[in-house]
Amino acid sequence: MIERHALSAPGNWYIDTRCIDCSAACTLAPGLIVARGGQSVFARQPLTAEERLQAWRARLACPTASVRTECHEDVPTGAFPEPMTEGVDRLGYNARSSYGAHAFLIRRPAGNLMVDAPRWTPAVVRPLENRGGVSDVLLTHRDDVGDAERYARHFGARVWIHEADRDAAPFADHVICGAEPVGITEELLAIPVPGHTAGSVVYLCDERFLFTGDSLAWSFEHNDLTAWREVCWWSWPDQLRSLRRLLSHRFEWVFAGHGGSHCLPFREMRARLAALLERLE
Ligand code: SF4
Repeated sequence: MIERHALSAPGNWYIDTRCIDCSAACTLAPGLIVARGGQSVFARQPLTAEERLQAWRARLACPTASVRTECHEDVPTGAFPEPMTEGVDRLGYNARSSYGAHAFLIRRPAGNLMVDAPRWTPAVVRPLENRGGVSDVLLTHRDDVGDAERYARHFGARVWIHEADRDAAPFADHVICGAEPVGITEELLAIPVPGHTAGSVVYLCDERFLFTGDSLAWSFEHNDLTAWREVCWWSWPDQLRSLRRLLSHRFEWVFAGHGGSHCLPFREMRARLAALLERLE
């Protein structure tokens, strides 16, 4: 039975009690949708056109279809793919099988790259076709595979995953081995970061964009970088060592599977990462 969450603010928009607390809605509509006692709720009703667009993004991304309205609202155009910065879009339509992880598209003249995969839907396929398809699917780890196999098959894309997580994506045809960074192209580096899972990988593009899976994220609540010991499935000491190794790389953006994505000048990003490690170690 679909029930409105009792803590969701009065008004047209609400979240129901089927929410699995995947955090996707909170990161698409920070401040508007917040976590309360193990589920997400609207803290207040959207007021502006931008806030309504954020609410719609949460609705379209929600893997349990828990973001709802009492009265009909027209779907706005341009919700997804969501432009994040030049050449990077968030795809939306998060998969339940990945526990609502965000997936991204890196647009490149030589071939577009999908980072992790959303659920399979024409609402993602059509825009991808209009943008020239997908040449590679870059999987950050075993949890965020989503419907990667269907996208890879449809677009004839190569699929990358680390050998330690490969059993979660046996269809992957490019396997990253060992602990050292691997150059996929001149601009794209796969950096193994064991910790959250044994085969976690972050992908660094143009020394600017770091796609972190579930290894590192931005917290809108604390306005800072964060990492989660309570959802570290493999080894927390390994995850901390992996994050420390990222200090030797330059990046301005963190694009997270779970949690927020954010941009800072690279020196500040590095200082925030060092401070995070100080807090966590
Ligand atoms: S996206 Fe849906 S399931 Fe995930 S936290 Fe938001 S409302 Fe809950």
